[in-house]
Amino acid sequence: MAQVSLKNVSKVFSGNVWAIRDINLGVENKEFVVIVGPSGCGKSTTLRIVAGLEEATQGDVYIGDQLVNDVPPKDRNIAMVFQNYALYPHMTVYENMSFGLRLRKYPRSEVDTRVKEAAAILGIEKLLNRMPRELSGGQRQRVAVGRAIVRKPIVFLFDEPLSNLDAKMRVQMRTEIHKLHIRLQTTMIYVTHDQTEAMTMGDRIVVMKDGIIQQIADPMNLYDKPVNKFVAGFIGSPPMNFIKGAIIGKDGKFYFNEGVFHVRIIDAMIPKLDAYINKEIIFGIRPEDIYDKLFVSSAPPENTIRATCEVVEPMGAEVYLHLNTGKNTMIAKVGGHDRPEVNQDMDLVFDMSKVHFFDKDTDNLIV
Ligand code: ATP
Repeated sequence: MAQVSLKNVSKVFSGNVWAIRDINLGVENKEFVVIVGPSGCGKSTTLRIVAGLEEATQGDVYIGDQLVNDVPPKDRNIAMVFQNYALYPHMTVYENMSFGLRLRKYPRSEVDTRVKEAAAILGIEKLLNRMPRELSGGQRQRVAVGRAIVRKPIVFLFDEPLSNLDAKMRVQMRTEIHKLHIRLQTTMIYVTHDQTEAMTMGDRIVVMKDGIIQQIADPMNLYDKPVNKFVAGFIGSPPMNFIKGAIIGKDGKFYFNEGVFHVRIIDAMIPKLDAYINKEIIFGIRPEDIYDKLFVSSAPPENTIRATCEVVEPMGAEVYLHLNTGKNTMIAKVGGHDRPEVNQDMDLVFDMSKVHFFDKDTDNLIV
């Protein structure tokens, strides 16, 4: 069993830099957990502490049932794949992949079997005699993964392994790592700053900011129920639109008022918003929850606002509209057939059952 757990782990670098603060994370056996967040949020530090490449200032790290705080990296039975591949330039692919096993004095036949097995899994059998400089970025990354596989570790750690690849290769390798996880059934922890990688690969996602875990959830829960404005804005592309305004009541109905437009809040949300009536609040709506009225069969006028379309970005199956409401700008993601003219005024319909409200002081989700 190779669960990994971090208990109250903090890391303070010299100069009182708190890279991570009181991290509590339990990764289940065979789970694929992705740690995601912006640059400098402490993702790599967290992973390096699991690997033993960095020592925690406070807290405990367990791999399986073993407390590994004082266990050196080579004895942790983990394998790590780095962004820069870290291949030995003077060794062939075969030598690179077998190096760790040879160092550990595995019998030659066992080494050979494992390297060939891993090469077959990754489709690099024909590259075994090449030098790293004779490989493409994607092939080098496969070799780096292969070197990790041959060790048969109980935990794989990936630190931004796809960042140096072009967009197409990234998508391909993403799928391959996903398949590898299914095939190997091994615990994997994967660090990335790319929310798409996180959403598509993770059984669960850990969102970090400023060294602190913001939320741990499976992809859909993270998307639908972000705990705060940071998570709501970080996960999803284009990001959620945020608009500052106030909640006002009139004739027993409640509206979100942004200054120029107002939209009616659905009754089911009102109890949770009770303390915010007549106060400033942040309204959030995802681009796909805004519709062009021309394509909506019945739109309540209370959910409809007027905006100017400033930029039209056709993406193929969908179109991103950059809109100006007079006071705010926002992005809508509409169907590929919808092509308004630039600078055209249009009516937009908000799906008010999908909106979120955030506290303007704490940024926490209210409803
Ligand atoms: P990136 O995506 O840019 O790699 P990250 O989320 O992985 O960022 P870390 O590399 O874990 O972030 O760094 C977290 C914080 O700790 C940053 O503020 C960084 O500057 C700081 N830090 C990391 N390593 C050291 C070090 N060896 N000495 C001092 N500060 C460090």
